[in-house]
Amino acid sequence: MAYTYDDQNIFAKILRGEIPNDTVLETDHSLAFNDIRPQAPIHVLVIPKGKYVSYDDFARNAPDAEILDFTRTVGKVCEMKGVEADGFRAIMNAGAHGVQEVPHLHIHILGGRPLGRMLD
Ligand code: 5GP
Repeated sequence: MAYTYDDQNIFAKILRGEIPNDTVLETDHSLAFNDIRPQAPIHVLVIPKGKYVSYDDFARNAPDAEILDFTRTVGKVCEMKGVEADGFRAIMNAGAHGVQEVPHLHIHILGGRPLGRMLD
């Protein structure tokens, strides 16, 4: 897939403060905010502040500090939202086959209701 980063994507605009977001947690390298079209009672997106199109781009190219910060931020969001007890789903879509709408890496944290089977 293409790794050319488009500075006009909606999450880049959120990171620049050009459009508002409902922030859950902000750290040095990451931002967590509520999805504008929630698919479950809890639906948080966590993004790195760096310019990474997808998870494979991030996993290959991001400095260790950014990868650690992103991972810890996901953990903190799970704790803040209290999803450990009943469980949750974490999803990262990538590219055309993954039906990725926004070309800036994000992980969806979904919870607050039974989510059903995803893979059979
Ligand atoms: P994808 O299909 O790329 O994995 O998911 C993109 C997600 O971003 C969707 O769940 C969509 O609802 C969310 N989204 C798109 N535009 C905005 C926006 O302007 N603000 C917020 N908070 N979420 C958005």
